[in-house]
Amino acid sequence: MRFFVFGMSVLIGLMVIGSPASAWWNDTHGALAEKVCRDFNCSCMNEIIEWSNIPDDKFKDMINHHDYDINKDCPESRYWRCPTENDFKASQKVQEFLDTAEQEEDCSVWKNIAIASHYFFDTKVFWHNVQDEDYFECHKEFEEQVNSFIFEKDTDWTVCSCGICVNYDELTPWVLEFEDKIGFLDKVYDTTLIVEIEETTLFEQFIVWVKRIIGSIF
Ligand SMILES: [Zn+2]
Repeated sequence: MRFFVFGMSVLIGLMVIGSPASAWWNDTHGALAEKVCRDFNCSCMNEIIEWSNIPDDKFKDMINHHDYDINKDCPESRYWRCPTENDFKASQKVQEFLDTAEQEEDCSVWKNIAIASHYFFDTKVFWHNVQDEDYFECHKEFEEQVNSFIFEKDTDWTVCSCGICVNYDELTPWVLEFEDKIGFLDKVYDTTLIVEIEETTLFEQFIVWVKRIIGSIF
């Protein structure tokens, strides 16, 4: 019993320390990649969230997480600079990992697809299309808010930060666009992005969450 109480205190302590660091885009990238996995009836669901965050968590190659398109609408603002040269580093990564996925087998296919999905969904974020943005006031604020709605499985929201808005309904078309790029596999379903959690899986989700928090600390 004493061990249990000790264990619980450590756990709660870790949650308090761990939440902010493990928060923002992770759940959003995870939810988007999970829909892709479900739609293709992939059998690697348990690792999809982790894999979809590999570029941020392991590669940390932030230089590749943007697409700059000078033909794309870009309002002038003191919070960011519009790109003056085309540079599609993220899209190149998408193609690179999809090409690798096509050569792989079993869950390795899905690991590469999940990584590709990360770069793809980054290109859909305004803050990954502009330069020298105010990170804390605009970019981080934006991603954190979106992430907390996704984490809470909320499907009715609009998030605005520094004059740039996104709403829940914009997310599904991004997934469909990404799915169209996976030409070498057959799509089986078209599931909703946010799936209601069943009571029985709540505990499993809690365990996954605890593991992620512990993983983000060590
Ligand atoms: Zn990223």
